[in-house]
Amino acid sequence: MRINIPTASSITRSNQTYRGIVDEYRPDLAYYESTYRDLHSNPELSRQEKRTSSIAANHLKTIGYCVHENIGGYGLIGVLKNGHGPTVLLRADMDALPVRENTGLDYASKKTMTDSNGTEVPVMHACGHDVHVSCLMGAARLLHAARSKWRGTLICLFQPAEEFVTGARAMVNDGLYSRFDIPKPDIVLGQHVFCIEKAGAVALSPGPVMAAADGLKIRVFGKGGHGSMPSLCIDPIVIASQIVVRLQTIVSRELQPGKMGVITCGKIQAGTAVNIIPDYADLELSIRSYDTRVQKQLLDAIERIVRAECNASRSPQDPVIENSAHTPVTVNDVDQTESLKTSFSDFFEDNASAMEPLPGSEDFSVLARAIKVPSIFWMLGGCDPIKWDEAERSGKIGEIPMNHSAEFAPAIEPTLRTGVDALAVAALTFLRLIASPA
Ligand SMILES: [Zn+2]
Ligand SMILES: [Zn+2]
Repeated sequence: MRINIPTASSITRSNQTYRGIVDEYRPDLAYYESTYRDLHSNPELSRQEKRTSSIAANHLKTIGYCVHENIGGYGLIGVLKNGHGPTVLLRADMDALPVRENTGLDYASKKTMTDSNGTEVPVMHACGHDVHVSCLMGAARLLHAARSKWRGTLICLFQPAEEFVTGARAMVNDGLYSRFDIPKPDIVLGQHVFCIEKAGAVALSPGPVMAAADGLKIRVFGKGGHGSMPSLCIDPIVIASQIVVRLQTIVSRELQPGKMGVITCGKIQAGTAVNIIPDYADLELSIRSYDTRVQKQLLDAIERIVRAECNASRSPQDPVIENSAHTPVTVNDVDQTESLKTSFSDFFEDNASAMEPLPGSEDFSVLARAIKVPSIFWMLGGCDPIKWDEAERSGKIGEIPMNHSAEFAPAIEPTLRTGVDALAVAALTFLRLIASPA
């Protein structure tokens, strides 16, 4: 599907056009750098992004956007209607993680919060969502200042609870596309900072770029009793152990070589004492894939193996298998990505490259799938260029602290400037540009 962008006009969507607009209207980034430090020092857990969302909302209101808050939790949108043209949605996620920060930065988080289980936990922006919020605030100001240069509608969306992969769905279910007087977006755009890429760089590819994730909770049943008399019992710990081992054969023996699939048993729990055989055992699995056929193959194989192992061990009751989470694969629309790749290559030159698909997952694409429109998600480099070059020279790229690490520390610049520019260039690629007077 192609967005209907006027081509038979004197407007050339060239580097010169984007460079001119972005350089003329880019706001002073010192403000956004201090906003970033503030957000980084004050992270908030998923579904508790109250302060962050009010900072974003107030900023959008001050600039002149029409703001709608509390959508699907602390989600919000700022809308700028600017004449007849396509509607572009830019998305940033806002939540942080229960991680104790160990970066040693002077703006490091020392914060704790109460999580959904009632436990006090340390909180850190260990996935860089503070970068996303700051960049979208900056891009919102840039595109508002540059509004004489384009026509259409711009929606800046700040999403809660990405780390639970529930926030995008919560916003859609809470009437994101039906409750407000806004046109349906023609395209949904977003970015994610990663320290596996040098700051100043952007990476983009068509097709699948992040995996689908499924979560399964499984309970297998045995027959409890005295640990000294296993012959009178059915041991669910042995059943669960056989399942974990046998699951390893799905990717290695059943999946076509070269297809991407991951099955991880991240949690296994059973028993209360050393001399008691328990009645049941619980397993929790995380499953990743890039295409729906593989996803179905993995889920079917897991169920087959779980049931067969229970039968083989004379389990007295059928296992309970529950889907605990699902987020779809993030797929970049092929045609639109070609347009954006051209813009990025022209604008960022050698700093634009192809994006390797990642095994991590995102709920970003839910915002586009819900209304059946294309979406594009790109990678924003975050690693300090000097540290990157040193690591590359010494063969230690793999040791750079990754997202979700307690030592994850994107370089503020040139990351923020690149992220603001990338959002602005991407939006301008799909909005209707106005020719400058001759
Ligand atoms: Zn994350
Ligand atoms: Zn993230």
